[in-house]
Amino acid sequence: MADTEYYDLLEVSSTASAEEIKKAFRKQAMKYHPDRNPGDKVAEQKFKQINEAYEVLRDEQKRAAYDHYGKAGVQGASDGNPFGGGFDFADIFNDIFSDFMGGGQYNNANTGTQPRRGVDLRYNLNISLEKAFSGAEEEIVIPTVKNCETCHGNGTKNGEKPNPCPTCQGRGKVRRQQGGFFVFETQCPQCHGSGYVITDPCPDCHGNGQIKTNKKLKVKIKPGIDTNMRIRIPGEGTAGMFGGANGDLYVDIIVERHKLYERKDDDLYTAVPISVSCAILGGKIEIPGIDGKKVEVNVPAGTQNDALLKVKGKGMPLYDTERRGDLYVQVKVIIPKNLNDRQKELMEAFRAEGDENGCQPEIKGFFDKIKDLFN
Ligand SMILES: [Zn+2]
Ligand SMILES: [Zn+2]
Repeated sequence: MADTEYYDLLEVSSTASAEEIKKAFRKQAMKYHPDRNPGDKVAEQKFKQINEAYEVLRDEQKRAAYDHYGKAGVQGASDGNPFGGGFDFADIFNDIFSDFMGGGQYNNANTGTQPRRGVDLRYNLNISLEKAFSGAEEEIVIPTVKNCETCHGNGTKNGEKPNPCPTCQGRGKVRRQQGGFFVFETQCPQCHGSGYVITDPCPDCHGNGQIKTNKKLKVKIKPGIDTNMRIRIPGEGTAGMFGGANGDLYVDIIVERHKLYERKDDDLYTAVPISVSCAILGGKIEIPGIDGKKVEVNVPAGTQNDALLKVKGKGMPLYDTERRGDLYVQVKVIIPKNLNDRQKELMEAFRAEGDENGCQPEIKGFFDKIKDLFN
């Protein structure tokens, strides 16, 4: 019987395409990644199994061996240290995220001195609700790498491209036979997978070709931006190598909490205290709007405590449009505590005028309900 455990782990059929397997792995790995499940031993175990399954199924040769012989056929691949010593989960994740983000310099597909795209960077930017309302231009400082000017990013003392590695002919990998049957590719021991060797390194970057730096950038924020929105700034990731394009910068927006307003999509909510007389007789209240202008809110006569009053068009802008959401004002009726004699007199007169039932107003159905509770 065919062993389908690895396919089951990734939740794909045994006839899934390479692309489907990659997608399924990504999905499962994201779900069970230790960062997302801190302290969860079951998730950790599952994460390891998913990685083991993917290590086999992503490779055509190993997958064929697994399909024919089951786990026994790929024992070498999951035992000990089969991938040339360079294998760990961080590597896999680097791989996922770099190609999740559109490819990067650590992508194994790019070996040797052919152009390599720079790595995409991500930056979390906190902004106030006022700035999310009005839009803004924020200056940020990001750590990044740029090409070394001395060697033009090549890492060599003479500034020319380095020579291909003689051991792997620039492939970054060497083939190794294992168990007499299967040929595995492992990382080249001489160039550690880079595909080239630098015999005379540039003194300024020590052969890296790139140096760490901080870069100041301006980020334009459009009105109505919200938490979880992402701004892409092309070419502001790390520098490409050997003539490759730069990576991109992704700025993830976090809109901070506001003292007065709570935001729900494009609407704003706030709570405002009003007096008893205003609640009973009606009136107007004024509150500071998110745009800095006063907002006048009409309180109708007979407004109940906690009532939600809607003010049309005074919420947040709908992203990248002229339209605005609404403002909801919840009223909190304040009951006065220390009445003077005249106020007490008036309240007694008020009671005599209509509240003949004393403290409990006659609300239809209410007493029928509580009667049931007493019987
Ligand atoms: Zn090599
Ligand atoms: Zn240099």
